[in-house]
Amino acid sequence: MFNQSRRNLARWFTLSMGSILVLFAGVIHQIEVKDKLEALDRLLYDKTQIMAASVHYDVRLNQTKVDLTNVPLLGTGSYPLAKDLIYVRWYSAQGQLVRFFGASPPNQLKTPSGYHTIESTDSLSQEHRWLRQVTLPVEGRTGTLGYLQVATPLTETHNGLQQLQIALTLAVPVSLALIAVTGWFLSGIAMQPIRQAYQQLQRFTADASHELRSPLSAIQTNAQLGLLIAANDPRYQQPLGNIVDSAKSMGVLVNNLLLLARHQGRLAPESLKRLNLNHFLERLVPQFLALAEAQAIRLIYEQPGQAIEVWADADLLQQAIENLLSNACKYTSIGGSVLLRLVPHPNWAVIQVIDTGIGIPEADLPYVFDRFYRVDTARSLDSGGFGLGLAIVKQIVRAHCGQIHVTSALGKGSTFQIELPVKPQP
Ligand code: ADP
Repeated sequence: MFNQSRRNLARWFTLSMGSILVLFAGVIHQIEVKDKLEALDRLLYDKTQIMAASVHYDVRLNQTKVDLTNVPLLGTGSYPLAKDLIYVRWYSAQGQLVRFFGASPPNQLKTPSGYHTIESTDSLSQEHRWLRQVTLPVEGRTGTLGYLQVATPLTETHNGLQQLQIALTLAVPVSLALIAVTGWFLSGIAMQPIRQAYQQLQRFTADASHELRSPLSAIQTNAQLGLLIAANDPRYQQPLGNIVDSAKSMGVLVNNLLLLARHQGRLAPESLKRLNLNHFLERLVPQFLALAEAQAIRLIYEQPGQAIEVWADADLLQQAIENLLSNACKYTSIGGSVLLRLVPHPNWAVIQVIDTGIGIPEADLPYVFDRFYRVDTARSLDSGGFGLGLAIVKQIVRAHCGQIHVTSALGKGSTFQIELPVKPQP
């Protein structure tokens, strides 16, 4: 129970911290993309501005002149102007291509002014590549002189981002693993006071139940003695009979509570003995024959030809099977049947208790193993149950590292299946 809660706590911690981490990595990636593009745009702008300075209006010829002849050489100077430019294009104010350097352009300017990321194919290598392109209007005294369009490859930016991506892809799982370990450690610390409080409560229940046993049996014995003494006085018969019944019922409750409080967690290996289930179950059946007969129920025991053995505490396992059989008989009406079946399985010993009784509503199935849970108070009170029988069965099965499942159909019957490991568990 505590380990499961600890696992859940650690899982939720890892999931929530992991989501924050992934979100954080995504944001870092986006910021880096934005920063890199902005830096590239600034550089592109600066270069375009320097080129725009070479544009002038020739009043004599009534023509705009642009000098792009030096563009390929410009990068060799102190300012890396043209080193990494794919193309430079000059369009007239009407959008007609006038001059260009680099890849051959369309004759008409199609792109609106501003920065764009575009995909293009290298004319020589036919390779696809991503470019950052800026189209800027060049203004003169008389208005817009034309448009300068400049593009630079995004390869370096892409490489830088790819490296960041790789770093993040490696860092995120490593951080997740660290978070998981931290989560496991922290949940252990968080569970400690709860575990202590629970253990104290268990100790208290065990001690209180133990202390209650003696006075209860004293009450029962004295009431029975009183019944014998006042055998001829009807005035005392009923009250004394009530005391005996209540003391018996309280005794059962106290014993059940003691059982639940004592057998928490797995059983110590020294308390487990090799047990032949075929014989063990066979010996249990006769105890219920009288009860079954009284209720006109058929009680059947089915076992396989091969011997099935498990490591178990015989007394506890007997208690678990008895609880199931007693429930099956209790909740099966006249003419029904109860089948105790031992089923072979490679890794598990499977014990089934199948009845054709009243069944359990689907909504109640998940809770029937909870302490003090009774499906229908009326029908359980009739049969004198406290709602602890199945909780005890589950605890005993868990103590043996086994599992218990129930399937049921209302009005048709129920099947309780216990699976016990055939090999000793580490
Ligand atoms: P109780 O002592 O009240 O029988 P249990 O823990 O043994 O408590 O069972 C819990 C509830 O599950 C019971 O109140 C009963 O309604 C239901 N139940 C248990 N076994 C069966 C069964 N074989 N058929 C129908 N209902 C069952």
